[in-house]
Amino acid sequence: MIVATQQVTATGNRTRLTVVSDHIRHLADRPVPLLFSPMIEHFEIYQADWPELLRRINREIAILSEVEREWLKLRLAIIAETQLAFDELFIKAGGAESCAGCDGACCGCGRHHITLTNLLAYLLEGEEPPAPDFSSTCPYLGDLGCRLPVARRPYNCITFFCETLDDQLDSADREWLRILDHQLRNEYQLVAERYPVASLRGLWIGLKRVGGGQLLRSSDKDMLE
Ligand code: SF4
Ligand code: SF4
Repeated sequence: MIVATQQVTATGNRTRLTVVSDHIRHLADRPVPLLFSPMIEHFEIYQADWPELLRRINREIAILSEVEREWLKLRLAIIAETQLAFDELFIKAGGAESCAGCDGACCGCGRHHITLTNLLAYLLEGEEPPAPDFSSTCPYLGDLGCRLPVARRPYNCITFFCETLDDQLDSADREWLRILDHQLRNEYQLVAERYPVASLRGLWIGLKRVGGGQLLRSSDKDMLE
C-alpha cells in the first residue's frame, strides 16, 4: 500500500499515483519501432508500436496451453476481486469527492504503472484494452479520469491512498487495507515470477528487459518464497 501527501504532484483529473518517470517519450510520428529490437539501448515506445505489441501478445496467448490459460485466469480473477474490495475502501474514505476536489492530482504524474498483467485481463477475454495516449501525463488518463476500470487498473494506482484518504480510515479499515494489499501484491508477484515481463515495475520496463524475446514463456513458478 502506498500513502503519500495530497497534491504531491502535478495537476491531473482523478486519483492515483505519484511516481514521475521518463521511460516514455512521445514521438508518435517516428517510424522506428525500437521496442521490438532485442538490442535496445535506449527504450522508447511510440503510439505506432501499440497495435504491434497487442498482436505480439495475442500471438503468444493463442498458443498458451489450457493449463496455463486457466492458471492465469485464476490469478486475474483474484486480482479483479481484490481490487474491487480496495475500491470499496477508497469510496468509504471519500475518494470520489476528495479526488474530484483535488482534480486528480496524483494521476498527473502517473507514467508507466500498467503491467502486462493488466493487459492480459483484457486480452485473455478477447477484448481490446484502451489504447494508451502518450501525449498525456499518464497514457491512461482521459478527460473523465482513468480509462481503465477498477478491476483492471495497475497495482500502484489501486493501492494508492494519499494522506487525505488515509485520514478517513479507522484502524479496522487500515488492517483490512493491509490484508488486501498483501493479497493483491502476492497475486501480481505470482504472475511476475512466472512471466518476468509482468514485473510490477511496469510494462515498459518489463518489455525493455525482454527485448524481442518471448513474453509469455512460463518459468513454471507459481509459489512465492
Ligand atoms: S485526493 Fe485523490 S487525486 Fe488528490 S492526491 Fe489524494 S488520491 Fe490523488
Ligand atoms: S493508470 Fe489510471 S489511475 Fe493510474 S495514474 Fe494512470 S490515469 Fe491514474
